[in-house]
Amino acid sequence: MTASPRAERLARVRKEMTDGGVGAVLLRPSADFRYFTGYLPPLLERLTMLVVPAQGDARLVVPALEAPLAHEHLGDLEVEVVPWQETEDPVALVRDALRAAGTATGRLAAGDQLWSTFLLRLQAALPEAELTVASTVTRPLRMVKDPAEVEALARVAAAVDRVVDGLGDLRWAGRREREVARELDAASRAEHDETLFVIVGAGPNSASPHHSPGDRVIRHGDPVVVDIGGRLDGYCSDTTRTLVVGEPPPGFVELCQVHEDPYIVAGNRERLVAGTAFSVEPGIYLPGRFGARIEDIVVCPEPDGSAEPGARRLNQTARRLRVVPG
Ligand code: ZN
Ligand code: ZN
Repeated sequence: MTASPRAERLARVRKEMTDGGVGAVLLRPSADFRYFTGYLPPLLERLTMLVVPAQGDARLVVPALEAPLAHEHLGDLEVEVVPWQETEDPVALVRDALRAAGTATGRLAAGDQLWSTFLLRLQAALPEAELTVASTVTRPLRMVKDPAEVEALARVAAAVDRVVDGLGDLRWAGRREREVARELDAASRAEHDETLFVIVGAGPNSASPHHSPGDRVIRHGDPVVVDIGGRLDGYCSDTTRTLVVGEPPPGFVELCQVHEDPYIVAGNRERLVAGTAFSVEPGIYLPGRFGARIEDIVVCPEPDGSAEPGARRLNQTARRLRVVPG
């Protein structure tokens, strides 16, 4: 990734810190770390820590062996790489980075998933500091996707869409849900870095929103709900389509038509601002009979109206009921 989106993210989190009275944010390799640096180093027993003060220079304290990789990925991003040797105490180097920025006291925000072994050592090294979770300053940023992130979300949506495009080529009738799910898992792994989940719910199981694929044999006339999610370059996909094997059961086509009206998020009072990404997943479930669900990831457009009006739908596959040969 070029420096500019990352530099903008650093500038924005610094403003968030200043507004929130936080002196610095301390991150080990994590989603937040990747968000600011554009890469994800291995999570080792040895400490790698990004120190971003509200004012002053950002530093990356990193095991000496990992320093070349860090340089390569950071490029011209203004983060000073501080390699530590086996004989050095990396926590002391983190403390030095904070002292250099004048923020070794006051409120510091540490990564939400920071291991307690490091948190306790930081606390001991920084007795004057009050530690809080990093999400207090990163969450407001992470919720609003910048253009580079919207493109990353669009790429992972396209990846899962290619898996969905293959649904019609699978054999459904006479196979267990878990067999089909395994095949979809492989197809999804071919398109993503990893598969996060595959739901295949056939017949009455289509009425169970979080069904895990089991031994039920898919039959002619079964509605099947397929929900797939994976991760690509740190961003997640999540899409659902409903199909029917051969002849739809009585009432099912009508049920699917009822829920074609997708852009309603009930019960959510959070204001949607431009760049917010969320899933829209209307479903209708008739327990014991069948269900149907369609799920897409959408992003709120920029207020200048540069994009299409309404939310931008990232999943592009047809939302109609698919009929596969039974
Ligand atoms: Zn889903
Ligand atoms: Zn979902």
